[in-house]
Amino acid sequence: MIDRIRSRLMNQFSERRTCGNGWSSLICPTIENKLKERIDAGKTWQPPIKSSEDLFEVHSIRTNIVDLGRFSCTCGRWRVEGIPCAHAMRCIIADGRSIQDFIDPMFSVLFYRQSYSHNIPPVDVDIGDFTTAHEEVVIPPEVRNQPGRPKTNRIPNSGLVQ
Ligand SMILES: [Zn+2]
Repeated sequence: MIDRIRSRLMNQFSERRTCGNGWSSLICPTIENKLKERIDAGKTWQPPIKSSEDLFEVHSIRTNIVDLGRFSCTCGRWRVEGIPCAHAMRCIIADGRSIQDFIDPMFSVLFYRQSYSHNIPPVDVDIGDFTTAHEEVVIPPEVRNQPGRPKTNRIPNSGLVQ
């Protein structure tokens, strides 16, 4: 089982390394797509109202307060997911700031590549070393009755008997 896990991880690391090396963007494509969806979601909203350098009020279905300095929004999505919510994206774009300044570095292609830069070396193992011979049959343990009153199987009350 451990050898299967090892070989599966070895293959997974290799595939992800190849995949990551093919990306030309700075942010991982999955995150980039999410950000694009959030930008699209906020396009129909009114422009955010700026309160201070980092504080904004965004009117969508309900009013949310975005604090770009603290990477937070009252909807709570930014804090939970680590990437700006649609409200925050609306403020970032309206204020002319760079989106990448608000994305956690762990979502960058560079971090992704570093995560899978190490390879798991192949191991020369004969799988036959770990299998049991046919003579070695594992039998189940002996069952002993425990002291005390034995449990009875009760028929559930159908409600017809009074
Ligand atoms: Zn939000």
